[in-house]
Amino acid sequence: MAKDLLIGSHVGMNAPDYYLGSVKEAMSYGSTAFMFYTGAPQNSYRKPLGDLKIEEGRALLKEQGFDENHIVVHAPYIINPANKNRPDLLELTIKTIINELRRTAAFGAKILVLHPGNHLGLGAEEAIKALAENLDTILSQDGTDVKIAIETMAGKGSEIGTCFEDVRKIIDLCHYPDRLGVCLDTCHVHDAGYDVNNVDDLLAEFDRIISLKRLLVVHVNDSKNIRGAHKDRHENIGYGEIGFEALCKIANHPLLRDIPKILETPYINEKAPYSDEIRMLRDEKFIDNWKDKYLA
Ligand code: FE
Ligand code: FE
Ligand code: ZN
Repeated sequence: MAKDLLIGSHVGMNAPDYYLGSVKEAMSYGSTAFMFYTGAPQNSYRKPLGDLKIEEGRALLKEQGFDENHIVVHAPYIINPANKNRPDLLELTIKTIINELRRTAAFGAKILVLHPGNHLGLGAEEAIKALAENLDTILSQDGTDVKIAIETMAGKGSEIGTCFEDVRKIIDLCHYPDRLGVCLDTCHVHDAGYDVNNVDDLLAEFDRIISLKRLLVVHVNDSKNIRGAHKDRHENIGYGEIGFEALCKIANHPLLRDIPKILETPYINEKAPYSDEIRMLRDEKFIDNWKDKYLA
């Protein structure tokens, strides 16, 4: 039944309720999955776990029968795990990711989404090798069973991981492939040049190059820009260059049934659009001009 769709959005984690508030926010949208940052996305400062009402949040999840396998953590995106020529920053990057793995496990979550980083003029090949080495360092010191889901990127600036082949290379070069998976972001792959409207071909290509067994998370976002634009600007569902039909097909695709689908679409007038976006994807029915009520 459509109601079983594993779908949700990114949610906040703010004072005073922290994780309990995150869980309540996700539930208020009718989510069956969600994603959060364990602190600010744009820095590596992290509040102690003891302050975050984790037990209270987990108790509510349990009470509601919400499966923690469908909860995803996103690593801070400011760090560059493909860093090679800045050893001064590398130590902090490695420490930050090891800490995020530990924190993810403390929330009972099993997946940490990681942006593969930027080559900063080094070239993608060198950066891919550096990333695999850095992942080896991280995973050799980590005691959790959390999987790192490498996110497919739009190709903004010198981002790496912009094609399935490169993501596959990262996994092949790492000595802990069992700890690695992939997060497919629809806006990012569209901006990188893939035809997201051809859903079956897109998934077939993913399967051929990487294997769908590696797919751990799907980020469902429309894109403000045309295919291949390398911009990475998310748009609300049905209002962008990908469109409702393709995003709905992805959200409801039988091959992706057991994978959490996460919306990272923009707020409208400071209001979260997720209840409506989730409902439309679940009902497989677009509501014309659904955004209007937020703009009023
Ligand atoms: Fe991301
Ligand atoms: Fe994303
Ligand atoms: Zn993005």
